Amino acid sequence: MKITIFGTGYVGLVTGACLAEVGNDILCVDIDEGKIEALKQGIIPIYEPDLDALVARNLAAGRLSFSTDAREGVEHGLLQFIAVGTPPDEDGSADLQHVLVVAETIAEHMNDYRVIVDKSTVPVGTADKVRETMAGVLAERGVDMDFDVVSNPEFLKEGAAVGDFMKPDRIIIGTDNARAAELLHQLYAPFNRNHDRVIAMDIRSAELTKYAANAMLATKISFMNELANLAEKLGADIEQVRHGIGADSRIGYAFIYPGCGYGGSCFPKDVSALEHTANQVGYQAQLLEAVEAVNRRQKQVLCQKIHAHFEGDLAGRRIALWGLAFKPNTDDMRDAPSRVLMEYLWEAGAEVVAFDPAAMDEAGRIYGEREDLVLVNTPEAAVQGADALAVVTEWNIFRSPDFHALRKALKSPVIFDGRNIYDPAQLRTDGFTYYGIGRNQEN
Ligand code: NAD
Repeated sequence: MKITIFGTGYVGLVTGACLAEVGNDILCVDIDEGKIEALKQGIIPIYEPDLDALVARNLAAGRLSFSTDAREGVEHGLLQFIAVGTPPDEDGSADLQHVLVVAETIAEHMNDYRVIVDKSTVPVGTADKVRETMAGVLAERGVDMDFDVVSNPEFLKEGAAVGDFMKPDRIIIGTDNARAAELLHQLYAPFNRNHDRVIAMDIRSAELTKYAANAMLATKISFMNELANLAEKLGADIEQVRHGIGADSRIGYAFIYPGCGYGGSCFPKDVSALEHTANQVGYQAQLLEAVEAVNRRQKQVLCQKIHAHFEGDLAGRRIALWGLAFKPNTDDMRDAPSRVLMEYLWEAGAEVVAFDPAAMDEAGRIYGEREDLVLVNTPEAAVQGADALAVVTEWNIFRSPDFHALRKALKSPVIFDGRNIYDPAQLRTDGFTYYGIGRNQEN
């Protein structure tokens, strides 16, 4: 099938490469000329495991190409995917300007029937807006042309995006149109052989399903963080509690890790956008408000622990940071807890010496050159002479360090474990002062 994808970010590029891999003819269009130039040469602008080989293979085979020319894009694909960003607006709602610009562009250039497939995460009612926008442009052009709009939200996880796309838990197809539904079924058939993963539904329900999934996941995290803070005050250990509740099959072990808060480009903005959608229809989403508030507070927990340990005397201290990305296996630092911690430390006059396996360039891009941020190339270099180590992202490489060497390298052997990856008892035996999240200091 000939397919055009607008937006070559985490979602658009993975979608394009994976659809090309099964034999489709994909054209990816982006307004970012630098990105498109790099991609044409097989250079991937983001860190995403397995993506570079996939792009290189399909580029070489001629099944995947890149362009900044929207007209070419509209001519190319029967299916026109919208995979552009929907960042939060100032009031927390989803900013739809990029989505609607693409809708306009498609309507400006189309000369034949097109199916517009919305992959971006968009509030309920956006498909109607896309339809209205396109109808307006077509009317201005004085042409009467048929098109359909489908909601096909994406559930891939950064860091495992290729695997998630190739073997999805589910494929949501939201449409009220049989012809479009049939085309989408055909498109996804190669990813749907093991068992039927397609869940077809009406458009508004499809749009809401994406927000519901992210809000549920964010709720699990905030729930555990709330309990972790409580456990700490009660002298209990949240890790033992986690094992205790996860054993209940109705609860399960997945996604109930306490920590220093969730970040990323999706959970914070999607919870906030859903809350905003609720407000617009006169409903106060109290649970969502709490999920967000708990997370905001949780991002401060490491700051508070560091402040308390040093009794507020942070000026001139050097704090080593392991992990900058909002989670392992990505370079994405959007809304990352590391940013809250670093900005707090700088404000308090401390210096940050940081290492991340993938997000160093991104940190440099966000913060530029500054004297109180030193980016180093190994975890060992970060801790050399530091007053303390804070672990913010649970990359595998941080899980089992040489604690003996670590103790020797640190100026004072203090560890703030924002992801509970270490055993407090062992660390204390090894001579460290250990702070976790929701763990009894005496355990
Ligand atoms: P991103 O910011 O990485 O990429 C968006 C791309 O769209 C950019 O390259 C930008 O230049 C391009 N763009 C903007 N306007 C354009 C236009 N008019 N024409 C062509 N390209 C244009 O975004 P992302 O992380 O890939 O997310 C895209 C959407 O998918 C968002 O709605 C997001 O919520 C959703 N989503 C993201 C993830 C994720 O893990 N990142 C997962 C599921 C869903």
